[in-house]
This record gives sequence, C-alpha cells and structure tokens, in this order.
Amino acid sequence: MKCSIGESFSKGELVPFGNIEINPAAGVLNYGQALFEGLKAYKTEDGNILLFRPEENGTRMINGAERMCMPAPSVDQFVQAVKATVLANERWIPPPGKGSLYIRPLLMGSGSVLGLAPAPEYTFLIYVSPVGNYFKEGLSPINLLVETEMHRATPGGTGGVKTIGNYAAVLKAQGAAKAKGYSDVLYLDSVEKKYLEEVSSCNIFIVKGNTISTPDIKGTILPGITRKSIIDVARDQGFQVFEKPVTVDALLDADEVFCTGTAVVVSPVGSITYLGKR
Ligand code: PMP
Repeated sequence: MKCSIGESFSKGELVPFGNIEINPAAGVLNYGQALFEGLKAYKTEDGNILLFRPEENGTRMINGAERMCMPAPSVDQFVQAVKATVLANERWIPPPGKGSLYIRPLLMGSGSVLGLAPAPEYTFLIYVSPVGNYFKEGLSPINLLVETEMHRATPGGTGGVKTIGNYAAVLKAQGAAKAKGYSDVLYLDSVEKKYLEEVSSCNIFIVKGNTISTPDIKGTILPGITRKSIIDVARDQGFQVFEKPVTVDALLDADEVFCTGTAVVVSPVGSITYLGKR
C-alpha cells in the first residue's frame, strides 16, 4: 500500500466532545494501526495562546505513518487542525501558571479489515483537556525504577514511533513500579540490557560536570521534541551535549539526571533504583 500524505484527508469539522462510532473490524481495534501526538497550549499574561512547535509533531506523525503503513495529514493540515481545535476550546486553557491545555491528535485505521493488512480508511481526530503537572511530585524530583525484565522496544520494532501499542506494552511494568511507590520506569535496551532507552513517556538526560548526555535515537526511542529543544538550549548555554549510548553505570555515576517531554516538561530525577547485575 502506498502511504500517501495529505491529499486523501477531507476537510474536518469541529464537533462537541463525545463517543465516536467505530466498526468492530477496524484496523485500529484489531491490529493496533494508530498513532498519536501530544502537544500543549499555554495562555500568556497578555492573553495570547502559545503552541510549542506544532509542525514538529506533524512531521513526527508523518514519519510514524510511514512505519505503520498509514496515510497521514500533511504538516499544514495537522497544524491548521490543531490551531482550530485550540481556538474553539480557548475557554478551557488554564490561566498562566495554572497548567495548560493538552492536545491529543489521533490517527487510526478506522476502515474494516479482517485479514492482516493495512486498513482501507483512516480517521484523524483531535481532542483536548486542561492538565496540570504530570507527576504527583509536581516539578519536585521523581523516583525512577530501572526495569530489568520487560522492554519497551526492540531494534527494528516500532519503539521509535508514537504508536498506541508501545504504551500498552509499558502498562504492566509501570503499574508494578507505581504500586511500589516509584514515579515511573526507566527502560533498558533489549539486546545488551545495559544501555538506557527512555522512561514510559519521556526522554532521559544525565549531567556530569559540564557534559550532558542522552541516548541517541536509533529507532527504539521516541525522538522527543522537548529533547531536541533541550539539546539546543544546553549547547547555547555552553554545555557539551552528547547523543550517544548511555550505560546504567554512567547513570548511577551522574551528578544530575532529568527527564523531558511535553507532559512531564523538564522533571528532575531525585533517585534511581537499579536492582540488576552490574
Ligand atoms: N518518549 C516517550 C515514550 C513519549 O511518550 C514522549 C512523549 N511524547 C516522549 C519521549 C517525549 O516526547 P516529546 O518531548 O515530543 O513530548
């Protein structure tokens, strides 16, 4: 199937939030053919609305669609749809300093398909919700558990794209860690089991002196938009930044550790628990 960009999507409409109808044989329900994005809109003191680099999310959705064999809206269609949805929901954007409006674009195979194949039709929708801090710690340091048994992604798999199944795959480890009081789980590579990958919903950075390192993007971690921005800001601030394999040993020896993501923003890590062999 040719995975086309843009032209096959008809003009959308704004409708009140509610349930949608879906065919039981839809590609998304049977074969997990779906991608999502996450962005935030903020209200400024002077009443403006800020969106952070929405075209990057549109581009990431197109790249993910290629991997998932789906057509995707063009970057322009994506950004226009995000802006229209935010403007229609302006009243839900929290006041400055009180949170943000989380924006969730979702692209899915909505056409019916019984034998394993790409769906014949796709639906792109966006919903929004006001949100506060992602972690219960707020912006205070979080506690991470390094997961040594379960993996989030494997080389050649779909770990590097924002597809729904990646998130189903982390629920068990994340739930077990939370039940023990950890804020979230840090995943390791599935081959050597000693290199850091990422946390369930954010990228990870370690700081040692004037050097900042973050795992390089090799198809198993999500290319975070916040990650990219932090790399640029850190370099501007005079830090040496490396995108390279980062070992558990380097993590445990770091001066500082932090996570980045749209939902978690920049969250400091206060403690790391590693129960594996060194
Ligand atoms: N990794 C994963 C698995 C994520 O779900 C997210 C959130 N989208 C991130 C990293 C951070 O990406 P971004 O900075 O684009 O939000």
